[in-house]
Amino acid sequence: MTTIEPFDAVELITIKRDGGKLSMAQIGWLIDAYTRGYVADEQMSAMTMAIFLRGMESAEINDLTAAMVNSGERLDFSGLSKKTTDKHSTGGVGDKITLPLAPLVASFGLAVPQLSGRGLGHTGGTLDKFESIPGWRANLSNDEMIAQLESVGAVVCAAGSGLAPADRKLYALRDITGTVEAIPLIASSIMSKKLAEGTSSLVLDVKFGNGAFMSEFERAKELAHVLVRIGNDAGVATRAVLTNMNTPLGHAIGNANEVRESVEVLAGGGPTDVIEVTVTLAEHMLDLAGMTGVDVRANLANGKAMDSWRAMVSAQGGDPDAALPAASETHVVTATRDGVVSHMDALPFGIAAWRLGAGRARKEDPVIHAAGIDLAVKPGDTVKAGDTIFTLSANDSARFERALEALDGAWGIGDAMVDHGPLIAEVISG
Ligand code: URA
Repeated sequence: MTTIEPFDAVELITIKRDGGKLSMAQIGWLIDAYTRGYVADEQMSAMTMAIFLRGMESAEINDLTAAMVNSGERLDFSGLSKKTTDKHSTGGVGDKITLPLAPLVASFGLAVPQLSGRGLGHTGGTLDKFESIPGWRANLSNDEMIAQLESVGAVVCAAGSGLAPADRKLYALRDITGTVEAIPLIASSIMSKKLAEGTSSLVLDVKFGNGAFMSEFERAKELAHVLVRIGNDAGVATRAVLTNMNTPLGHAIGNANEVRESVEVLAGGGPTDVIEVTVTLAEHMLDLAGMTGVDVRANLANGKAMDSWRAMVSAQGGDPDAALPAASETHVVTATRDGVVSHMDALPFGIAAWRLGAGRARKEDPVIHAAGIDLAVKPGDTVKAGDTIFTLSANDSARFERALEALDGAWGIGDAMVDHGPLIAEVISG
């Protein structure tokens, strides 16, 4: 018996092409028919371009998100004795915040399920950073994940292929059709994965600035509003924090060195910007989970967050005391004059770290965990000629030339620092 399809792809494409609105039934059918291969890639490419050019109304974006959630499995954390809360970052250079944040929030008795990805391009992936730790494994079954959430409170693991499979297919298509940057498509893509994961509250770290996926502040803010609305409409208490990504976060850009820096934060030290973003996001996560007025910094100072980190790493086979990989080659860049570090642009530093081997160009490439950049100073610091500005690390010195090319003009020494505004720019609560 042949199935009678209720809609026709061409009809829906022309509605959107002409600026019309798609109904819930039409969007639901489109995503289902695309996932099962009935709607062809060529047709979906035309649809994503029509959405890119014409936009979508709020109800359409919610329907698109729900359709992508319905394309796969949903996790169920309802049996946990702890409340769940999650965080998502749109990604940045030196963005290792998940590493200290998940155990910090778990140390207050909440469950933090962090289903993460590997990095592609200049922004690193959380799993790549964790995989620098000898023995640590990213792949957990749903039962293992739930058991670890109950016992430890924090899990960082690979998102299974069953979660929002329509998004995976659609994202790959957008990537090759110039339709990644459409806010309805970005927002539904991010939120479908988070809603399928089934957290009860969510804090989004939406980055803006030269190292961010969405460089313009106003566009990042528009995205933040849409993300928060989708979450709240779906019954997940959602908030977004707009954070500045004009300068790399912290001093470490790479994988193993970012783990080292995160451990410093968990030990009560570490760079002030990493601490500020970690503590701010933790405060919002605790607040949304009903824990207001908690002294978040106390658990960084008293070792409780570190205890959670050690338990989380060990539960996934990692040795929290093992030495992290170190690179065989280093190249030190020094100041040529006295003055103040005026700027360090995040994007070129991210590209340079990637060229050193810390990131991958194709998803099947391995990353070199020891490769990366360590900043000895940050914008605003005073230096003298000959002082170290940063150190490049790689396992092959031939990589230094291309990394240094990316860094040409990316930093400078002058009389004052370029003012990029505050690190935490705005909070969007819906
Ligand atoms: N991250 C996602 O998961 N999806 C997008 O579309 C963009 C960023």
